[in-house]
Amino acid sequence: MKILVEQGIVKEKKRTLAEEAALPTYEVVHQPKACEDCGKIVTNRVCNTRKNNVPYPHYKTNCTACHMYKHPETGEFNLTNSAIQHYYRTKHK
Ligand SMILES: [Zn+2]
Repeated sequence: MKILVEQGIVKEKKRTLAEEAALPTYEVVHQPKACEDCGKIVTNRVCNTRKNNVPYPHYKTNCTACHMYKHPETGEFNLTNSAIQHYYRTKHK
């Protein structure tokens, strides 16, 4: 565990006085890395998927790092909110 702390992969968690008697606990240090989708250097990237009903039911996936939407056909995160709304208004199921 000591070598992981030296490499910055984990860090020791802060403990209350009551927890001092127990063994130390560790948490993972999340490393910044290039996002698989948008290519930005991100830490703890999150994608939100929401269901929309207008103009017909569909799901929209949004990246919280670059704020772009996933293209329903190519899967790339290259659409703005207005562009994906235009996509669903003009394309019929
Ligand atoms: Zn992104």
